[in-house]
Parts: sequence; C-alpha cells; structure tokens
Amino acid sequence: MVDIRSVHKSFGPLDVLKGIDLTVRAGEVTVVLGPSGSGKSTLLRTINHLEKADRGEVSVDGSPMGYRRAGDKLYELPERAVLRQRTRIGFVFQNFHLFPHLTALDNVVEAPVSALRRPRKEAVAAARRLLERVGLGDKADAYPRQLSGGQQQRVAIARALALEPKLLLFDEPTSALDPELVGEVLDVIRDLAERGTTMIVVTHEIAFAREVADTVVFMADGRIVEQGPPGEVLGAPREERTRAFLAKVL
Ligand code: ATP
Ligand code: MG
Repeated sequence: MVDIRSVHKSFGPLDVLKGIDLTVRAGEVTVVLGPSGSGKSTLLRTINHLEKADRGEVSVDGSPMGYRRAGDKLYELPERAVLRQRTRIGFVFQNFHLFPHLTALDNVVEAPVSALRRPRKEAVAAARRLLERVGLGDKADAYPRQLSGGQQQRVAIARALALEPKLLLFDEPTSALDPELVGEVLDVIRDLAERGTTMIVVTHEIAFAREVADTVVFMADGRIVEQGPPGEVLGAPREERTRAFLAKVL
C-alpha cells in the first residue's frame, strides 16, 4: 500500500531524512517512535507530498506521490493533481486543525463537498454516520470551541475519514490532550485498526503501540534504526538507541 524507497530530505544544510525505506501493507498499522527532531513529522509530510523528497520515491496504492509514471520515467504532477492524489490520504494532526467557524458536522462535510464534489445531502448523511462512529452523534451542531480536546480530535478523525482515504496518517494525535482524554481518541484509532484501516501513527503511547501495531518503527537522527513486530522492537530491542529511548518514555 505504501512504499517508501531511499527517501532523503534536507532543509538547507540540515539532513532530516537520510535514506528511509519502509513498506506498509494494506490493512496494517505502523507505529513510528523516536526522539524529538528525528524526522517523524517530516516523514509523514513526505508521504502525502506536503514535503517533496529530494531523492527517493514514495508510492501510495501503486501511484508515485507527486508524479505520474509513463514508461520508466516520472513526470511531476501539477499542484491540482497532487491535491487530488492527496484526497486519498487522511492526515490527523496533533492540534486538530478544525475550522473554528464551522460546526462539527460542517467540518466533516466540507472536504467531500469541495474536493470530491459530493452532493451536500449525501455528504451530510455520511458525516452524521461518521460522527456517530466516533461517539459524537450528539455533537453535530457544536463548534470546535464548545468541544473538549478529545472530542475535537475525534471530529478531526471523522473529517479525515469522510474522504474515504486509502491510508490514514496520524502525527501525535494524543499528545496535545489532557491525560484523561487520551483513551477516547486511542479507542477510535483502535476501532479503525480492527476494521482493517491502513495507518501510520506517530505516537509515544507505548502500550497502544504494543497492542495495535503490526509494525513498530524506531527512528533516530533521520534514519530507521530498527523496525519489526512490537514484541521485538518494544519487547526485546536489538539497538542500544532504541533501548535508551524506551527507557525514557516507559
Ligand atoms: P517531534 O517529536 O518534536 O515532533 P519530529 O521527529 O517530528 O520531532 P521533524 O518535525 O520531522 O521531527 O523535524 C526534524 C528536523 O527537521 C528538526 O530539526 C526540525 O527543526 C527540522 N525541520 C522540520 N521542518 C522544517 C522546515 N520546514 N524547515 C526547516 N527545518 C525543518
Ligand atoms: Mg513531529
């Protein structure tokens, strides 16, 4: 589903991704861990082409992100085509990024209507089902400021799902939340995992990773130091850097 091959990314003199190779199979959950500044967010942003890799290739569901393949050549896509590609990938951020002037329902309805040209009535019905699914059926008419952080993040997840993405990316979805609100958001992500949603989740919630991840990836300093099933990477890490990191977050 996701194929990342030798991806490099620098910002000026700073090499942030130093050759990332990662494969995510359809229906699997990959959890990415690593210290601050190791390149986790940049990796997610590179996957949906919010950042353009300097070298290497990212393909999602068979198509190279940001490019069109013709024979063995890649041609850069115009911005509009990249936006269309990006509608197949849901992105959930640490700070929710809801539209403050729209209700929960309208936040979920917006993208399918504007990006996919769905009839509004259809989009509203689908949005109500999605809000129901994240446990917010009764909050459809609330504005973001009237919702708790955990509720806002669940609206953000419903909004990402409204585009029926092939892939969901989460960048520390619970790290801005008060501890008592973390569980309700993780429950929604766990439910998505059980339904076979393909996801890449950057999180430091180790217990969650152990339970839900098919693969755990530990990044440090722009590289993947270690990856494998949670029992190995979290239970019996081979690399000293992984052990040192886990000792800090556990
Ligand atoms: P955190 O756990 O703190 O979120 P991270 O692993 O997500 O960290 P990134 O946000 O990917 O790390 O950043 C990796 C490095 O790249 C950092 O040193 C950061 O300052 C730098 N960086 C990220 N985006 C840019 C940018 N647009 N311009 C310049 N430097 C950037
Ligand atoms: Mg980050």
